[in-house]
Formats: sequence, C-alpha cells, structure tokens
Amino acid sequence: MSILSPEGTALLYLVAAVCFILALKGLGSPATARRGNLLGALGALLAMIVVFLSTELDNLALILGVIAVGTIIAVPASRLVKMTQMPQLVALFNGVGGGAAALVALLELEHSDTVGAFLAVAFTVLVGSIAFSGSIITFLKLQELMPTRPIIFPGQAIVIVLLVVLGLVVATLIVLDDAALAALGMAGIKGVAAVVGLIVGLTLGVLLVLPVGGADVPIVISLLNAGTGLAVAASGLVLSNTLLLVAGTLVGASGSILTREMAKAMGRSVAGILFGAFAGGSTAGSTVASDRPVRSSTPEDVAILLGYAQRVIVVPGYGLAVAQAQHTMAELASTLEAKGIEVVFGIHPVAGRMPGHMNVLLAEANVPYEVLAEMSEVNPQFKTADVALVVGANDVVNPAAKTSPGSPIYGMPILDVAAARQVVFLKRSMRPGFAGIENELLFEPQTTLLFGDAKDSLTSVLSAVKRL
Ligand code: NDP
Repeated sequence: MSILSPEGTALLYLVAAVCFILALKGLGSPATARRGNLLGALGALLAMIVVFLSTELDNLALILGVIAVGTIIAVPASRLVKMTQMPQLVALFNGVGGGAAALVALLELEHSDTVGAFLAVAFTVLVGSIAFSGSIITFLKLQELMPTRPIIFPGQAIVIVLLVVLGLVVATLIVLDDAALAALGMAGIKGVAAVVGLIVGLTLGVLLVLPVGGADVPIVISLLNAGTGLAVAASGLVLSNTLLLVAGTLVGASGSILTREMAKAMGRSVAGILFGAFAGGSTAGSTVASDRPVRSSTPEDVAILLGYAQRVIVVPGYGLAVAQAQHTMAELASTLEAKGIEVVFGIHPVAGRMPGHMNVLLAEANVPYEVLAEMSEVNPQFKTADVALVVGANDVVNPAAKTSPGSPIYGMPILDVAAARQVVFLKRSMRPGFAGIENELLFEPQTTLLFGDAKDSLTSVLSAVKRL
C-alpha cells in the first residue's frame, strides 16, 4: 500500500523540482557550484524516496538489488576518476540516462492508449537510444580507445538518411491506432516497431558521432545530454510523472544552451560539427610525434626570459591539469608579480577537457579571478606581452585554426600567442594535442620549448626565478 497521498506526492515532487532549479542556479558560479551540486543530488534522492512511498511496486527486491549494484559501481568510479577524465564519466552517465528512458518507454508501450502517449513513446525510444549509443562513442573517443579523428566510410551519409526515414516510419506505426494498423494489414505490429526503433536509434547514434572530430566531441556530449533530457521529459509524459517532465526539460534546455554557447566559442555551427566531415572537412589527425627541429631551452633560460619581462601572459591547457601543476603555476605567478611583472592568465573556453576546466583548476590554486582574462579580453594584449607562457596547451593556440582550411580545428577561435614577443611552450614531447594536428607555432623563430612534465618544469623555473 502506498504511504503518500497524491497531494503529498505532488508537493514533494515540487520540492525536488525546486532543488533542481536552485542546483542549476548554484552551478552558474564556481563559488556556489558545490552547494548547487549537493542540492541537485538531494532533489534526486528525495524524488527516488517519493517513488517508493507513493507507488505500488512489484519486484521490490529486484529494484533494490539493481540500485545496490548501480551504487557499488558508481560510487568508487566517481571517486577514483581523475578530474581530466570527468567528460568521459559525464558521457557515460548521460548515455545510461538516455538508454534507461528508452527502455522504460519500450516497456510502457503496452500501457499507453492515447496518441500523445504513443508519440512520447516513439520519441523517447528513438532519441534515448541515439543518446545512449552516441554517448558510448564519445566515451571511447575521449578515452582514446578509438581514434579521435572523424571517421567516415563510403555511403555513410546515405545510410544515415535511410535510417532517419526508417525511424519516422517506425514512429508512425507506433502512433497509428489499432484500426488504422488493421486496415494496413499490420495489426499488433507496435511492439515490433518499437524494438526496430530502438535498433535504428542505436545505429544512428553510432553513425552520427563517428564523423565528429576530436576537438568537437565536448560539444556533441552536450548535445547528447540535451537529447537525453528531452527523452527523459517525454518519458515523464509516458509515465504521467511531472517530476521527470520538469527534470528532463531542465536538462534539455540547459544542454541546448550549453551546446549553442560552446559551438559559438568554437566558431562552429551544430550542423557543421555533425556533418562537416561529409562535406569534405578534414579527417586528418594523428598522435605521432613530429621529428622536425625546434628550439629548446633550460629552466634557467626560461626564468631569465620571465624575470626580465614586463608583462607575461600564461596560457594554461590540458597538460596543466594532467601534471596537477596549478599550485606551482600560481606560486610562479605571484613570485613574478612580487618582482613587479604583470601576469595575466588567458583562458580559452575549451582549454582542458571540460567547460570551465581551467577556471576550476586555477580557483583550486587560489589564483584571483581578476588575473583571469577570457579570450576576447586577452587576445588584444598579446602584442604588448613580452612572454606568452603556454603551459600544457596546444590546440587552443594552434594557428592552423586560422590558416589551414583543411584542418579539423579550422574556424575555431584561438588565443593569439604568436603575437607575443617570445613564446615558451611547456610540454613533454613533440606529440600533437587532442585534435591530433601539428602546431606550426612550435617551429617559429620566437618560440622556445621547455620539455618535461609541467609540474617539474615549473618547479625548476620557479626556483631559478627566485635565484635571479
Ligand atoms: P591539447 O590537448 O590540445 O594539448 C595538451 C598539451 O599538453 C599537449 O601539447 C601535451 O603535449 C601537453 N601535456 C600533456 N600532459 C602534460 C604534462 N604532464 N606536462 C606538460 N605538458 C603536458 O589541450 P588544449 O587545452 O590546448 O586544448 C583542449 C583540446 O581538448 C581542444 O581540442 C578541445 O576541443 C578538446 N576538448 C575540450 C573539452 C572541453 O570541454 N574543454 C572536452 C574534450 C576535448 P605532450 O604530450 O607532448 O606533453
């Protein structure tokens, strides 16, 4: 017997929905993000408890068992995952959400009886399964378990178009009423149509994400996240559950806004990201180190360059996060400032491996917000900078984005480090960045490379600067 009345259930769902909305608001600023995250988790916990108290559940033992298995896997996975691997984890969790929505809709087909409900089932099955398989591919690309470059094969575009048509046919069969289906000689076909829809969605998810190049994968994660949100919202309609509807709509809307903002920051259109490779975009990209000669230097040389500069612009990237060198970087910046040298951090919107990665990393090391400058603000400052210190960044400063129309990052706005008098790259080898393309700036006469792990290099540079 259910303990909660329908009114009590609705009220608690409202409380959970308010938690989700406040969570999103909290996530808008690093200062309140932690509280926002906790509020969101609290809302989800409350929603789950309400389900148990308000519904007659069959198979209670099975449900509790599955929750236990999920918890045993997810808690250590979330605790152990490195900050730099967070996008992969988000991609996996997002995919599982979409897959779950699709399966729930499949099971609810037999309880649906209105056109609206059938429409919601068709939508959830198709979009949820696309989000599931698409997210798995983004996970494999980010984890570098498969090539991050765009993958296309002959006839792929035609197969995609045929699958979209098949998906629409399947959705129509799910929505048509029994009399219409009987007239077409297809009585009782809804179940089969839904399973075919699931297979079509899974295949489409794979085929749509394979052609996406490495540097655009984060935007696709956000797009799939929006898709999962909409699938969950539609499953709220299927199950007549207002909270799923609200939560799904919030995820759908915020995912769509994030996708648009990230695409804008990368100078891309969403259609260009998904279909650019078919239109002759580059499928180049490798992880092979270049053997062309470069000018390399010692920590002492770099310390002299920095110590005699008036203005230094630091460009942090993924390598700073890998090396966990943010504290040493912050100490080097404050040491230079104490010597009267102006230090600014230039932040590219997609530096690192997740939106806001550099802001989070530098905030952790107590670098004041005032010295962080966004791309549009910092780019005009490079021409008056004595040194651009590029710490573990590559794609976000690669001039190929401006000069090579065939390059996978062509069109992405970059930090204009080439305009600085001297450019110093801190990296371990001559391997390319995430997009897998060579950076011509490494071979320019004003560029020097300090090879080594960023933390080790910065530690040596810091002690040399202190000795000046
Ligand atoms: P890149 O991946 O282009 O370059 C990282 C650089 O760091 C490489 O040159 C690498 O060279 C160096 N590096 C790695 N580890 C270390 C270390 N321990 N010490 C010193 N250097 C190190 O990073 P960027 O930040 O420039 O660009 C981000 C890329 O990731 C973009 O292509 C973006 O689209 C993509 N992306 C962004 C996401 C986001 O939301 N921000 C999410 C997913 C992908 P070496 O190996 O020689 O040391």
